[in-house]
Amino acid sequence: MRELTYVARRTVEWREAPDPELRSDQEAIVAPVAATPCDVDSSILAGHGFIEPPFALGHECVARVVGTGTAVTAVAPGDLVVVPWSISCGTCDRCRRGLTAHCASVPYMAMYGAPIGGSWGGLFSDLVRVPYADAMLVKLPAGLDPVAMASASDNWSLAWRLVAPHLTSRPGARVLVVARGSIGLYVCDIARALGASDVLYVDPDPQHRALAEDFGAITAEAIEPAAHKDGFDIAVEATGRVDQLALAVRCLSPEGICESAGNHFRPGELPLLDMYLTGVTLRIARDNVRAHIPDALALAASGKVNPEKVVSDVIDWEDLPNALPRKLLKPVFVRSET
Ligand SMILES: [Zn+2]
Ligand SMILES: [Zn+2]
Repeated sequence: MRELTYVARRTVEWREAPDPELRSDQEAIVAPVAATPCDVDSSILAGHGFIEPPFALGHECVARVVGTGTAVTAVAPGDLVVVPWSISCGTCDRCRRGLTAHCASVPYMAMYGAPIGGSWGGLFSDLVRVPYADAMLVKLPAGLDPVAMASASDNWSLAWRLVAPHLTSRPGARVLVVARGSIGLYVCDIARALGASDVLYVDPDPQHRALAEDFGAITAEAIEPAAHKDGFDIAVEATGRVDQLALAVRCLSPEGICESAGNHFRPGELPLLDMYLTGVTLRIARDNVRAHIPDALALAASGKVNPEKVVSDVIDWEDLPNALPRKLLKPVFVRSET
């Protein structure tokens, strides 16, 4: 089989690898049918990552199950499934607490698409081994489009977590989104669907702002904290830039909450005294995505949101080496199943 391999800045290529095989009765082999780059893959492709190439890329896909171990009961060959970005066993203390990005049964940072905690391959590969099929895989609900939901492995479900629980505890909150890619646009869609009173989306890219407006947000190219004296109840930062995170926290109302999607590969400073005086809760965290993929899929199935609008291009799987390095908002690569 082939693995799409990141080899140098703005360069990926197919490399041959042995077909994965079941190594225990709890495993599954899946074939991605719709895969898409996470916003952090764009940073890696631009050369901002911290892992030396080469490595297999990709950690967002909907896949077809092609084989299962004898102990697997939750999925069967033929099922369409969401494959979470991180590897988790489902049975250790941390997984049982929902901390699936911190599974104690596998090395720290065990994930697809970046060989930090072992090599698990990438989801732009022809075949993928899933070590804990029952714990990890989530069946795609009937009626949901694999292309629209390719991002449920990470960015779509992450966006749900960044804003949905806070809107439950703060109904009608004002939401600020400072972003550069799909995560922030998904947040706009979800925030408006779940009753945010105002959503301001900040991004210099006019194509992104047009989409945010389509989702009912007000938009701006840049943010001026002085212009937002009343502040926002919830701020979401998904830029990978500390200066943008600093601006987001300075726009919060008293005791506001800021969620950062992180991946700040470069250093910077936060206005800690301002944050102390305002009373800010800042969460910056990798997402325990497996725990809330079902909630994020349920919202998508409700018809209140339109994640398919964020898909910028639908591209044939065979064009991955040429098309992935291009700067596209959210291309989805699809494989024809014969
Ligand atoms: Zn990601
Ligand atoms: Zn675990």
